[in-house]
Formats: sequence, C-alpha cells, structure tokens
Amino acid sequence: MGYVIKNSESILLNDTVYKGDIRIREGVISELGQDLPIQGDELIDARGCVIYPGLVNTHHHLAQSVLKGVPEGLNKGLGEWLAAVPYRFWPKISPRLMYLAAKLGLYELQFSGATTCADHHYLYHYQSTPEIEGALWCAARDMGMRFMLCRGSATSLGSHKGVQSMQLEPETPELVMQRIERSLNFHDPDPLSMSRVCMAPTSLIHSCEPAHLKEFAQFARQHQLKMHSHLLEVNFDEEQSQSKYGMSAVEYAASCDWLGEDVWFAHMVHTDKHARALLAESNTSISHCPTSNCRLGSGIAEALDMDSTGIKVTMGVDGSASSESGSMLQELNLAWLLHRSQHGADAIKLNQVMDWGSKHGADLLGFKSGRIEVGYAADLVLYRIDSPRMAMVHSPEWAPVLCGEPATVEYSFIQGRPVIAKQESTVVDIHQLISDLRQEMARFMATI
Ligand SMILES: [Zn+2]
Repeated sequence: MGYVIKNSESILLNDTVYKGDIRIREGVISELGQDLPIQGDELIDARGCVIYPGLVNTHHHLAQSVLKGVPEGLNKGLGEWLAAVPYRFWPKISPRLMYLAAKLGLYELQFSGATTCADHHYLYHYQSTPEIEGALWCAARDMGMRFMLCRGSATSLGSHKGVQSMQLEPETPELVMQRIERSLNFHDPDPLSMSRVCMAPTSLIHSCEPAHLKEFAQFARQHQLKMHSHLLEVNFDEEQSQSKYGMSAVEYAASCDWLGEDVWFAHMVHTDKHARALLAESNTSISHCPTSNCRLGSGIAEALDMDSTGIKVTMGVDGSASSESGSMLQELNLAWLLHRSQHGADAIKLNQVMDWGSKHGADLLGFKSGRIEVGYAADLVLYRIDSPRMAMVHSPEWAPVLCGEPATVEYSFIQGRPVIAKQESTVVDIHQLISDLRQEMARFMATI
C-alpha cells in the first residue's frame, strides 16, 4: 500500500498554496483532496510542516563532497582553483572513496530537500576502470535518489592549468562512446525512471576537438540522451573560443551541434545579449549555480534576463569543493537574494525561484516530477516550519526558501519511498558513513 499525508500547514501546488491531503501509491501522487480516507495506507502526520515538490539539482560533482575547504584553493579563481583542488586529487580517488563521497553528497542534498541529482562526473581517462562509475550508480541506488549520470569526458588534455600536470592519457572519442554504450544498461528513458545517462564532455572549449563534439552530439541524439557541459563560467572560455576558433563560445557550441532543447550548460555567467539570444532561439537551458559562482568570484549569471527571454533556468549546487555546500535550498535562497541585490526588490519572486529549483529542472532532465500533481512522481519534501528560525515567518508557506539553511526535513519521499522519516535517513547510517569516510580519507591523503 501507500501513504496518506495529512495535517500539513500548506502544500505548494504549482504557484498556489493548497491545504489538503496527498495520497501516494505505486511511486506516484495518486490523489489530492480533503479528508481523504486512509484505505489501508500509512498515515503521515505533517503537522508543523509545509510540503514542496522535491528539488531537482541539475549540476553537481559528487566526487568533490570530500574536498570542501581545501586550503590551497580557498582564495583562488576558477583556473587556479582547478589546479589546486580537483585536478590534484582526481586521479587518486578510489572506487570506495567515490562511493562514500557520493553517499555523503546525496545525503546532504536530501536533507536540503532535493530528490533528483544530475551528477557531472568527469573522472575518466584512458586507463579508467568501470568501478569508479559503478560506485556512483551504487550510491544513487543505495540512497534511493533519482539520478542522472552526466558522463564527462576529455579527448585532449586541454587548456586549463592543472590538467597537463596530471600526466593522464585522455580517452579517444571512440573509447568514450564504447564506454557510454556499456553504461546504457543504466539508462531508463521512462518518465518515472530512477536512472539515466547523459553525454557530458567536461568542457566544450578546452578539452574536446570540434569534430569529437560533433560525433558526441550525433551519438547522444541517436540514443536520445540529453547533453550537458560547462560553459562560460569565466571569461577565459570566451577568450579561448575567439583565439582558437574565431567565434564566440556560444557560436562555437552552435557550430558543433551543441545547442538545442536537449542541451544545458552549467554557469553561463559571462554571456552577452547576442549569446543569450542564440541560447533562447535554440531552447538551450542553464544550470544556475550561484553559491559556487560567488565562492570562486566568477560573477553572477544573468538568470533573470535568460528567464524572460525564454531560456529555461534550472538550479545546481555545483561541486562542494567550490561551494562548501551541497544544499539546493541554499541555492534557491541565494538566487532569490542575489538577483534582488542586482536588480531591485521586486526583480524575482519566490515562486519563480521555486520553479527554477523544481519543475524547470525536472522538465529539462525529462522526469515526470517537480510538481505536486496527480500522476506525477511522488517526490515530495516536508520541511518543518516550527523551528526557531522559521516559526514566526508571516508567509509560512515560503519559510524554507525565505530563510534558507538550516532547514529541517521531516520527511522526504522519492518515487513514493520515504528516504527521510521523522528527520532521520532511512537509507544510510550517517555516523557510520562519516566514520568510514574519515578512515578512507586518511588513506587517500597519504597518497597525495
Ligand atoms: Zn561544475
């Protein structure tokens, strides 16, 4: 049987606030209404809680969940930070560390209200073993997370500092596609699927030849995979595109068949009107990652202008090594504040930022979730709003987004399964996980 959720303070139903009950059966929201009978389902008492659709994170690097606050990278911008933090550690991450790191990152996401994660995983090179990717699939399954593996790749060492110093042999495009074909076992195109694969070269500008990008686009579209990459996080992308290819970064993406409704880019901080027009015309989307952009001093993406021109704005936490956070609620709260600081107090509404963090992300990734509607996946989060921080908010339905962290998640359902119940994870013993991580990290740091 399923669950009936009763007594909540309110439910965010699209842009309106609803008071009533929710029934969950067979992984989906099966009924909304007043005074629903129990009919053999388990009663969930949501007193003191508001109910949101589960948040959808469209850009992460779960491997970085164990690389927060690395001293050498604390005061560096993107290029120097890449050399000082992720690229320094990447080749030595073992499958076991990857598995534990991913579980920690997914735990943090779930306790911020996220129920879906698109992880941009780029720990691949010529000698990579399948175990490191397998660790991610296992972690997502064990955590009960709706998951998209954005399969990173680099077919040349590229122009970022730090990559050359790793002395790794890059994959050939043929090897990338062969390996992705093997991963397609995990790709379920069903709208209620729990696992998907996405084609996601790590950087369009820096580490793939144009011919390879075209092959990847063709491969992705042939297999109906979504396409993702980083773009224009810093202006270096634009400079490199102009000097290497004689055109702007977004024009270059277009020339390699890398624009379209099946494509989204993380960051896009440094876009001009012309770039945004090309992105809007082609229905290309963005994963807006404000915390990481602030932390690395990259700037603020013109997400409001993008939204108004028809570019789908979604939200991502980016890797925790450049944000010290894996909280989707923090991203929503910060987006709400940042765009007001730039454009005025009425520039962005709470329901707009909520849409970015839920239904836009779900629509982009192709999951039937991100909304509280009958027939949609039962991905729901119950935030407590009687905590000291939120108890006296006069717009209680918006308290989680208005107040941000720390939030208290009473329940989280993913595909109708409670992964958090009564504020406790049902899928992992967090104390054991952190103890295991400490041991594994001690071994790992000895190799650096
Ligand atoms: Zn990223």
